[in-house]
Formats: sequence, structure tokens, C-alpha cells
Amino acid sequence: MLDIKITPAQALKPQPDPDKLVFGKTFTDHMFLMNYDAGQGWHDPRVVPYGPLPFELSCMVFHYAQEIFEGMKAYRAPGGQVQLFRPYENAQRLNSSCRRLCIPEIPEDDFVQAVKAVVGADRTWVPHKVGASLYIRPFIIATDNGLGVHASHSYLFAVICCPVGAYYPEGINPVKIYVEDQDVRSVRGGTGFTKCGGNYAASIRAGERAEGQGFSQVLWLDGVHRKYIEEVGSMNVMFKIGSAVITPELTGSVLPGITRKSCLELIRSWGIPAEERLISAQELFDAARTGALEEAWGTGTAAVVSPIGLLAQGEEKVTVNGGSIGPLTQRLYDTLTGIQWGTQPDPYGWVEPVE
Ligand SMILES: *Cc1c(COP(=O)(O)O)cnc(C)c1O
Repeated sequence: MLDIKITPAQALKPQPDPDKLVFGKTFTDHMFLMNYDAGQGWHDPRVVPYGPLPFELSCMVFHYAQEIFEGMKAYRAPGGQVQLFRPYENAQRLNSSCRRLCIPEIPEDDFVQAVKAVVGADRTWVPHKVGASLYIRPFIIATDNGLGVHASHSYLFAVICCPVGAYYPEGINPVKIYVEDQDVRSVRGGTGFTKCGGNYAASIRAGERAEGQGFSQVLWLDGVHRKYIEEVGSMNVMFKIGSAVITPELTGSVLPGITRKSCLELIRSWGIPAEERLISAQELFDAARTGALEEAWGTGTAAVVSPIGLLAQGEEKVTVNGGSIGPLTQRLYDTLTGIQWGTQPDPYGWVEPVE
């Protein structure tokens, strides 16, 4: 149990119009901070007013990117209560990222307590509007000053929050995806399975190129064979081919999404076979040509599920389900959002209240 010191903000900020929320631009009144120093461990857990912090420019994180993060949301249920979705999964994944990046782990209960402390302090910021939520960004940065390459001896764990609007204010529109054939996001043995900033730095160029050509995201191929599908942009990916759902297996270069895991659990509980295995772009495009590819969608905390309406590789383009959302994609979306926003029962115990 952390002994969290709370310093309330003196003046509260005006809250943005819930209809005009821009992702990641407005932050709440408070933030959670906790420091780590070698020999002392994690110490000084605190909730303080949101604001800037001074860092020397020799601070390690600026140079060698020893940094990891999480992404999760707080939801407003119809009765007004605020709730999280599977926060212990985020705690476990944070620690898995920590181990790969040589960052000291945070006990799972402490992580969840920290998230609840800041969300609790800023609970009025959790939007009441259907589909809107409070996005939570926990992260750890290396804070030693100096340019020597080694694991830092000091770290900062922070949790900041921003209200976000509905991902689909105009209804769910399937996205266009481009199969990336030049850049790779990660390779086995690298950091693909972690949520680290460096993965994103490596992915920006392909994303920009795809956007310039009218696609919303890229579909990454594996870095060795340039053949097997890994994931799409910042989402995992699933395909309904014939009667089964197929999703790339977690080989080490794919991010183990919590939405992915939840979708697989739902799909299997509905009696639909779900395979986690290697799937090549060739197999996917062949299935599209024969009509066996019925649905395709991405999964992630931000969008929940995002139907894919068009896939392009080089000059070739295939449409999925006539470019509209398919029945299984819709069922997953309705079930997950129903559980998250508390409009449907939660038989799996996925929801965690913020008291
Ligand atoms: C966070 C993330 C996902 C989705 O994970 P969720 O836990 O479902 O939000 C997928 N791919 C990448 C690269 C990510 O960073």
C-alpha cells in the first residue's frame, strides 16, 4: 500500500467542451508522481497539481529513450460511478516493459493505486457524454544526468490524464490500411512487445507516408521475412476468414494488447474458434480474393475495435465486407463498450471501480 501525499491544485482549470475534445491536448488538474533512486527504491508517491518539471538536458531519457508507458481509460457508468477496465493487465504489461528496458518494476497493487489516486482526484474530469472517457497515461522515464550509456539509477513514474471524446462521433467508419513494405516496427529480440517510446519513433515515417497517400494506418510485416502480419499502427489486428478468427501470435515483436486479449476471450466464449498463429500477407490477400475474408479489424484502447474496410499492398487493393463494419466486429464493439461504460453486465469481472 502506497502512502500517497495529496497536494490539491489551488485553482481548478476550466474544463473543455465535451463536444470539442481533441485527443491528448488538455490535461486534468493533477498528476501522480513517484521517484526511484538506487538503494532507496520507489519513494515519495504523491498527487500534485499538473504542471511542468525542470530537467537537465543531459537527462538520460532525452538521449537513449529509456522510457516506457501504458495507455488506459476511466469510464463514467450510467449511475455516475467511475471505473477502469482490467487495470491489473496494464500493471503486468508495464512490468514486462520494465524488465526489457532495465527499469525497476512497480508492484501491481501500487500501480493500480496510483492510477486510482489521480483519477479519483480528477473524477469530475471523467466525461458524462456517451462514448467519451478519461485517457490515462502512466509512464516511467530515466532521470540520471549524463551521457554514459547504461541503465539509469534514478527514474520518475508519472500518471497524467486527459479527457477524450468519442472515437467515432459520426458512427463507425471502416479505415483504409496500407501494407508497409519498407520500414519495420520491430524484430524478435527487440522491444516490439513492450510499450516503449522508441517503438513509436521507429514507426512515424511509415505512418506519415501512408497518411500522405490517404491511408489511416500501416499494417506492419515481420522484420525478418517481411511476410507475416504483425499489427496495424497502434492496434492489434484480427481477421475473420471463413468460420474462424485469426490473429497474429505474440512472437515477441507484437504488442500484447489488452483489447486483443479481451476480444479473444469474448470470441471463444461465443463458441467461435480463434487461432493465434502466423498469417502471411499473401494468405490474407488470397482469402480476400476468394471471398473467404469476411471481416478485418484492429483492436486497441483508443478505438476499442476499428473495422478495416480496405487493404492495399503495392498496387493491389481489396475491399473487406463491402467497406462496411461486419457483424462480429460490431458485436465485439458493442460488448466491450457496454462493459467498459457499464451499460451491460460484466460477467468476467473486468471492471474495477474507482472509489
Ligand atoms: C497499446 C498498443 C496496442 C493496443 O493495446 P491495448 O492494450 O489493447 O490498448 C497495440 N499495438 C501497439 C503498438 C500499442 O502500443
